[in-house]
Amino acid sequence: MDLNVLILPGDGIGVEVTREAVKVLRSVASAGNHRLRLSEGLLGGAAIHQTGTPFPDETREKALQADATLLGAVGLPEFDDAPPEKRPERGLLGIRKALEVYANLRPVRSYKALVDSSPLKNELVDGTDMIIVRELTGGLYYGTPRGISGTGPEERAVNTMVYTRPEIERVARMAFELARKRRKKVTSVDKSNVLENSQLWRRVVTEMAANYPDVTLNHILVDNCAMQLVLNPKRFDVVLTENLFGDILSDEGAVLAGSIGMLPSASIGSRRPSGAWTGLYEPVHGSAPDIAGQNKANPLGAIGSVAAMLEYSFGLTQEAQTVYGAIEAVLNSGRVTGDLKPFGPPATTSEVGDAVAAAFSAHTATA
Ligand code: NAD
Repeated sequence: MDLNVLILPGDGIGVEVTREAVKVLRSVASAGNHRLRLSEGLLGGAAIHQTGTPFPDETREKALQADATLLGAVGLPEFDDAPPEKRPERGLLGIRKALEVYANLRPVRSYKALVDSSPLKNELVDGTDMIIVRELTGGLYYGTPRGISGTGPEERAVNTMVYTRPEIERVARMAFELARKRRKKVTSVDKSNVLENSQLWRRVVTEMAANYPDVTLNHILVDNCAMQLVLNPKRFDVVLTENLFGDILSDEGAVLAGSIGMLPSASIGSRRPSGAWTGLYEPVHGSAPDIAGQNKANPLGAIGSVAAMLEYSFGLTQEAQTVYGAIEAVLNSGRVTGDLKPFGPPATTSEVGDAVAAAFSAHTATA
């Protein structure tokens, strides 16, 4: 099979974790005799440095040509005070919109070896297995009008939260379809006691549920959801929510998984003629300027994103499961980075990447 993948290392630890994810992707390609065609592009702060813009046209073209894109992370402190169009994060919004990846899937599961890494009690965390489906190309992050205007006491800022019925329907469909392959429960998160936007969201999701009688639908307000995620995470199977709420709630998932460095994500949109999804795959974490360049970052979220790519964009479900198995084997071996290991010498980013690639190859050699 041809695996035509664009790599966007981005900024900070994005570069380091992506290198390890590519190592694992190479092992998968070599074990399965797949032809891996990698190209590389610029996004975020690195792109601003070299081209003056966070999302250069060349990167857009490469992403549209590729079967799938693997992204590290974007963001550099030097741009913290830059105007919005000159900030690295604008590149992220740009590529999501260009690829029309409207659903961001964020699996959150607890690994046995990591229950002690979570600040929550073991019995609360152990057995957590949910997937957060976040709408990715609408809502407050894209709505217009937006901007800051006026001066002095007249200065004001506006953002607009817009959702259309079709935007809600397509992401809800994704959540219900996913639930059918899991424990058949969808929890839809909104703020319908205050926001009209959420009232439409709740009404449309409820209507969609009629097409999925085998799936149980619950609604929950976002403030209560934030609390339930840490009080009783095992109650959740598929969590469906809009862009801003999903952004915030999925970081809470880091507490359950033991570290934000553990969390992968898949952003998917339309299907190609082959039936595979157009996809953008990236760890949930950011560029972590505090540890960048030190070979300390946990690469497992990026490596898990490769597993998601194999599953959704290439239909290589078996290989994806083997990558998840290799991650678990490395966690069980205790060869992990410092975010998961408060005591004892931690492994480096590259050692963890090597270990996962080796565990993958060892498994396929004996299979
Ligand atoms: P962050 O996720 O970069 O870091 C938060 C904390 O988690 C830091 O202490 C960091 O050291 C730690 N951390 C993150 N990833 C880790 C990993 N793989 N291994 C070990 N520790 C890890 O979030 P932030 O500090 O709020 O943001 C830093 C920059 O990243 C900002 O410019 C922000 O805009 C950007 N950002 C980008 C993305 C993205 O590219 N998708 C997402 C979030 C934040």
